[in-house]
Amino acid sequence: MQVNAYGAHAGNQPLEPLSITRRSPGAHDVQIEIAFCGVCHSDLHQVRSEWEGTQYPCVPGHEIVGRVTAVGAHVSAFKAGDLVGIGCIVDSCQHCDDCEAGLENYCDGMVGTYNSPTPDAPGWTQGGYSQAIVVHERYVLRIRHPEAQLAAVAPLLCAGITTYSPLRHWGAGPGKKVGVVGIGGLGHMGIKLAHAMGAHVVAFTTSESKREAALQLGADEVVVSRDAQQMAAHTKSFDFILNTVAAPHDLDAFLVLLKRDGGMTLVGAPATPHPSPNVFNLIMKRRTLAGSMIGGIPETQEMLDFCAQHGIVADIEMVDVKNIEAAYDRMLRGDVKYRFVIDSASLAG
Ligand code: NAP
Ligand code: ZN
Repeated sequence: MQVNAYGAHAGNQPLEPLSITRRSPGAHDVQIEIAFCGVCHSDLHQVRSEWEGTQYPCVPGHEIVGRVTAVGAHVSAFKAGDLVGIGCIVDSCQHCDDCEAGLENYCDGMVGTYNSPTPDAPGWTQGGYSQAIVVHERYVLRIRHPEAQLAAVAPLLCAGITTYSPLRHWGAGPGKKVGVVGIGGLGHMGIKLAHAMGAHVVAFTTSESKREAALQLGADEVVVSRDAQQMAAHTKSFDFILNTVAAPHDLDAFLVLLKRDGGMTLVGAPATPHPSPNVFNLIMKRRTLAGSMIGGIPETQEMLDFCAQHGIVADIEMVDVKNIEAAYDRMLRGDVKYRFVIDSASLAG
């Protein structure tokens, strides 16, 4: 099947209309008509070749929601008409320890929704800035939110799970003081989720202008991270800090805010490394510095169900795919509250 898509032919060229091929559904496949696709900062890193190894043409997009249009003969969990989501993973080896633990995100054979090897043409996966996608049933998520919220559910498929997974893993909850650094697509979800989990949430932002909005999102306190005095007031007080910043910055400024045995987890993936942190800021209080990548499929379903139960969706601004370059530029300036979502109807014609 040929479908309309939007992608780039090189890192220094703008995205443009493309026609791409989707395979016919195999026995275990689900074919999905894409309704909306969120715009993740990773899309920009990848399509503009800020990370190594981008294959062109590159069609980004891994915050996909839509409706099932066909299923293979052996698919029983989904049927035509179901509302579903696809996140960052469309395949994995299915038998390693990680896959067996439902942590397909850490499988060495994980196939990302775009820019990963696949037998399908053209040899690498192409993502959700497109009208349809065909995915093995194991990687298809069920959406239980009301259909009217569908566009705002899209960002949960990456921004939601990437923040939910470390918050759960490191025990965000009642009695815990949790920081979320960077109030962008990921960070605003981190604030909502940590708040819903019952933690005391402190939002860190470089932009004073985001203070009121961060409180609305569920933050109990807001700290402007460029203000040394505001930072010092929180020294040695955090159980956990989730750092979503998309650019290299001084990690020590946050490490010193952790109490004994506290930890900071990095999910931001800047194109160039952070300055090396001072090891004494780790050893003096037995602090840890960790990383985390999206989440496995069972946990992604758990996160979607948690969000449906708690009435959580992303704060979004709809964008016509033809304006994607302007949206990227605004995302780089931090000028979006807080996630652009492409209306796939704008791919027609
Ligand atoms: P985003 O919407 O652009 O948000 C990033 C936020 O970081 C900005 O809103 C800004 O918040 C802050 N920031 C940006 N530049 C900064 C700078 N120079 N210094 C300090 N703060 C800065 O991006 P996103 O979609 O949330 O993605 C964030 C990062 O996570 C990206 O690198 C992305 O590739 C990565 N990511 C990782 C995973 C994973 O599995 N680990 C998954 C998805 C995305 P303030 O204005 O509040 O300061
Ligand atoms: Zn993403």
